[in-house]
Amino acid sequence: MDGILAAFNEFDNNVRRERCTTGMQAAAKRGRWVFPTPLGYRVALKPDGEKTLELQPETAPFIRQAFEMAATGLHGVGEILRELRRRGLAGRRGGPITSTMLHKILRNPVYKGRVVVKSWGVDIAADFPALVDEECFDRAVRAITGVKPLLAAYQRNNPDFPLRRFVRCSHCDRPLTGAWSKGKRARYAYYNCPGCHRVSVPQQQLEARFVELLDHLRPRSEIVRLLSAAVLDRWNEEQKEVTARRAAIEQRLETLRQRKERVVSAYLYEGAIDKETYQAHLARVEEELTLARIDRYDTEIDEFDIEGTLAFAEHLVNESSRLWIEAGLAQRQRLQKLFFPSGLSYDGEEFRTPVTCPFFNNFEGTSGQTRRMVARTGFEPVLPT
Ligand SMILES: [Zn+2]
Repeated sequence: MDGILAAFNEFDNNVRRERCTTGMQAAAKRGRWVFPTPLGYRVALKPDGEKTLELQPETAPFIRQAFEMAATGLHGVGEILRELRRRGLAGRRGGPITSTMLHKILRNPVYKGRVVVKSWGVDIAADFPALVDEECFDRAVRAITGVKPLLAAYQRNNPDFPLRRFVRCSHCDRPLTGAWSKGKRARYAYYNCPGCHRVSVPQQQLEARFVELLDHLRPRSEIVRLLSAAVLDRWNEEQKEVTARRAAIEQRLETLRQRKERVVSAYLYEGAIDKETYQAHLARVEEELTLARIDRYDTEIDEFDIEGTLAFAEHLVNESSRLWIEAGLAQRQRLQKLFFPSGLSYDGEEFRTPVTCPFFNNFEGTSGQTRRMVARTGFEPVLPT
C-alpha cells in the first residue's frame, strides 16, 4: 500500500510540476515575468489582480546607473560593482552584490523591458516597464562583450566637437575651434584655426584621423599580455599578505567568540558578574566582532578586485579608439587628456604628435615600438624649437 501511495505521490508531483511549467510558459508568452523578481523591480498587481512588476524606487536607480556606466565603455564590471557597493546596493536577499550577479544583470533583457526565455522560444515585450532604454542596454552589453560598433553611428548622433581646443594648429599653435558652416544645401561641421586660418578640416575627417592615430598607437597584444602577467605577479605577492592578514583576522574572530562565551557563562552560570557589567562586556565584544567581520569582508574585496582592474586596463589600451568613439563628450575629453596630456597639433593634413605619449609608452616598456609606428605612419615627432 505504501509503495502505491509513494508512486502516486510521485506521479502527482510530476503532473503538478509539468502543469506549473506549462502555466509559466503560457504566462511568459504573454510578457509576464515568472521568475524570481530581478533586482531593481518589485511585484505589483494589475487592476485585474494579475501579478506584474514595477520599478522598485530604492534599487532601480542603482541598476540604471550600472547600465549607464557600462554603456560608456569606460568602466569595467569591477569598477561598477565597487561604485554600487560604495553607494550601498545589496543583493535581493540583503547579501552583498557579487561580480557574477552584476554580469548577469547587465545582460538580462528584462531590464530593457523584454521577457526572453530561449529554451521556451519566448522573446516578447514585457507587460511591465523597462528600467533602461534599448540603446543604453545594447551599448552596455556591447561594451561588456566587446563587440565593435560603427564609427558612422557615433558621428550621426554626436554633433559635439570633442577635439575642439585639444588639437592645436601646428602653424600658429592656436587651439582649433569647432563650428558649423553653411553649404548650399546643408550645414557642415568643421574644425578651424581661428588664428592663421590655414587649418580648416571637416569634423569627420579630423576625428577619423584621431581614431586612426589611437589605433596606430595601440600596443601589440603580446605586450599587453606581458604587462598583465607582471601585474598579476605583483598581485600574487600582495595576495600572500592578504592571506596572512585574513588568517590573523580569523584568529581574532575566534578569540572574540571565546571571550563572548566566557562573558555569557560568567553571567549565566557562575553569577560572577551583574547584569549591567554583563551587558557592557557583551556590547563591547559584539562591537569588536562586527569590526573584525568588516575587516574580513575587506580582505575578500581585495581578493576580488584584481580581475576587474586588469580587464579594465587591458580594455583601455586595447580598445582606446573604440572607447573614445563610444564615450560621451566629457569622457572623450578625459580620455584624450589621459592619452595625450599635452594635446596634439595638426597641420591640415596630419597629426604632428609630440614624442611623449606616456600612457602608451608605459605599455611599451623600452622597446620603442610606439615611436617606430608613429614614424612609419607619417606622424612626425615635433621637436622642441
Ligand atoms: Zn593657425
